[in-house]
Amino acid sequence: MSVHTHSEHDPNCIFCKIVAKQIPSKVVYEDDHVYAFHDINPWAPVHFLLIPKAHIPSMAHVGAEHAALMGHMMALVPRLALQEGCTPYPQGGYRLMANTGVDGGQEVHHLHFHVLGGSRPWLKG
Ligand code: 5GP
Ligand code: ZN
Repeated sequence: MSVHTHSEHDPNCIFCKIVAKQIPSKVVYEDDHVYAFHDINPWAPVHFLLIPKAHIPSMAHVGAEHAALMGHMMALVPRLALQEGCTPYPQGGYRLMANTGVDGGQEVHHLHFHVLGGSRPWLKG
């Protein structure tokens, strides 16, 4: 897979530090381009984050040059969701979420997809 991203590592970014293993996290999946790990403050029985290793600040920064990377991430979601214990579709399933900007409620400005699942009720949502 060929992935071209203009940005790399931001030394002030908490998720870049997680990618660099400068901050510990519980791994869900890792390859050359992406990293997935458990959310530190889960609000569903399954709650992990899938991020590109490159520092892309948000969905608002995604363009055609990221198509391969984005396709790679989306294709991983079904497999990782089941691996982490989400109940199979359609009785189960999961929520896939990318909070973007202030109106989107984004707190960490390194692109991440939340995957939330498991039996309800959840703390939020
Ligand atoms: P946002 O609101 O930006 O979409 O979500 C950021 C998410 O990152 C939150 O759900 C929060 O719990 C999670 N998070 C923030 N800091 C850390 C951390 O240091 N480690 C882990 N594993 N998750 C974090
Ligand atoms: Zn970053």
